[in-house]
Amino acid sequence: MKLILLGPPGAGKGTQCKRIAEKYGLAHLSSGDILRAERAAGTELGRKAQSYMDSGGLVPDDLIIDMMIGAIKKTGSKGYVLDGFPRTVVQAEGLDAALKKAGETIDAIVSLEVPDEAILDRMTGRRSCLKCGAVYHIVNLKPKVDGQCDKGCGPLVQRKDDSPDVVSNRLKTYHEQTAAVLGYYRHTQSRIIAIDADQPIDKVSEAVFEALRRLGR
Ligand code: ADP
Ligand code: AMP
Repeated sequence: MKLILLGPPGAGKGTQCKRIAEKYGLAHLSSGDILRAERAAGTELGRKAQSYMDSGGLVPDDLIIDMMIGAIKKTGSKGYVLDGFPRTVVQAEGLDAALKKAGETIDAIVSLEVPDEAILDRMTGRRSCLKCGAVYHIVNLKPKVDGQCDKGCGPLVQRKDDSPDVVSNRLKTYHEQTAAVLGYYRHTQSRIIAIDADQPIDKVSEAVFEALRRLGR
């Protein structure tokens, strides 16, 4: 199965993608996680991406398309769920061209719908484990021990781009450049699943799984 999760930053894409990937045995490809790993490794791509990520803007399309098509190819026949990509219509077109060349199609696009008012609290309360990638929230999804990853990796961190200033830029970027991706898929894809993501995490997961079941998955 090949899925795309769409939604504003903080909608819960990473949280839901991890659950979907685990349930269906898919690779979870998060463009943000891949970029952060490139930064941590000090690669040229990581260095090029840094200023865009720190300010809440988008990394240039050509860099992202190459990076994500490369990551998709590495998954082989496993199937995948895309998280944070595509984030512009140009990226969606780039993905479509690569899929067409490989004779493949996306099975469904899952759109997580959350009002802007819910986003700031989710993102400023997010705490992440840099070692295993687990994501928590100081109120909505608390770790067992405050500030520590449940998997024994050590301390959790707050992402630099989860500060209120950068969050407001990221939301602006979403409305200006990313929201149009859903419109693009409405024209080119029949299987768009809209999910009310303004409800507790487990309820959102149930709604996603139920919708995928209805698709015969
Ligand atoms: P995204 O990948 O879309 O940026 P995340 O999955 O990282 O979003 O979620 C952002 C933050 O909001 C995390 O701290 C997460 O624990 C929390 N969160 C995710 N889904 C929900 C939800 N349905 N209700 C409340 N908080 C949520
Ligand atoms: P995320 O982890 O999805 O919140 O992404 C963190 C940051 O990485 C974003 O604010 C962007 O600067 C950058 N980024 C992630 N995915 C993309 C993408 N598909 N296109 C452009 N920039 C991206």
